[in-house]
Amino acid sequence: MQQFKQLTSRIWYQTPVSETDRPIVAVITGDERSLVIDTGNSSQHATLFLDEIEKHGLRRPDLVALTHWHWDHIFGMKQMAVPTIATKRTVDEMRKMMDYDWSDEALAERIQQGIEIPFCADAIKLEFGKDREIEVILPTIRFSGELEIDLGGVTCLLRQVENDHSPGSALVYIPEERVLFLGDAMYADIFSAKWNYTVGQTTRLLDVIAEYDADYYVWSHGEAMSKGAFEKEVHVLRQIIEVTQRAAGHLPEMQRLYRELVGRELTTDEEETLVFFANGAKK
Ligand SMILES: [Zn+2]
Repeated sequence: MQQFKQLTSRIWYQTPVSETDRPIVAVITGDERSLVIDTGNSSQHATLFLDEIEKHGLRRPDLVALTHWHWDHIFGMKQMAVPTIATKRTVDEMRKMMDYDWSDEALAERIQQGIEIPFCADAIKLEFGKDREIEVILPTIRFSGELEIDLGGVTCLLRQVENDHSPGSALVYIPEERVLFLGDAMYADIFSAKWNYTVGQTTRLLDVIAEYDADYYVWSHGEAMSKGAFEKEVHVLRQIIEVTQRAAGHLPEMQRLYRELVGRELTTDEEETLVFFANGAKK
């Protein structure tokens, strides 16, 4: 059951669903306009979100900002029915999807070609069932680098960032509310045969994120994380980057160095992240 939560005085968000890969959808309510971050993974998802907006007496969305092009963040776009903002790189990727067929056969064929992955295909089947009315439409407002949006009393800063998960992703920072929406930028590259993080991209991403001071960091498939918890995540990643470099991406040596660094056995998450960085070192 998805919940609709208030994060700060001007920000509400709907919690994610892992089985169908529904990400967090959020709204920032200004005095003049409101902006929604991502559209949800289907018309049903977008409708559920818009219903919550109405139930809570919030301003209807005037704009949507996309964090990146992955299906689960864009398939509710038509239902949102307002001008949408995305990076040019995101629009380029969406353009490729416009003629796609979403039948089981077409999904299987794209998996064969290495364009689609079973993880997404399975979630699409679960979200849509047999009747897959999917229409990809293109964002109206396209930018590269940075874009600032004044909603009246509150600002959204969109910042394109390098990252392994989806090139052309945008972060959304709301300085007045001290909240940073990460989209999926902190997640690994899941479209390669071996899921991976690279030292270069992750370092650049963490350096950009460090420019923003926030009380909450929102992971699209996770939660609104407090500053303290987020700093711990960043610390783990920086330590793993360090051992990846020292061990030149050689996994057993990375594991040994990391154990030595933290002085204990590794957690499951750390094990997984080490494997992803070792995979990234072989790219
Ligand atoms: Zn994604």
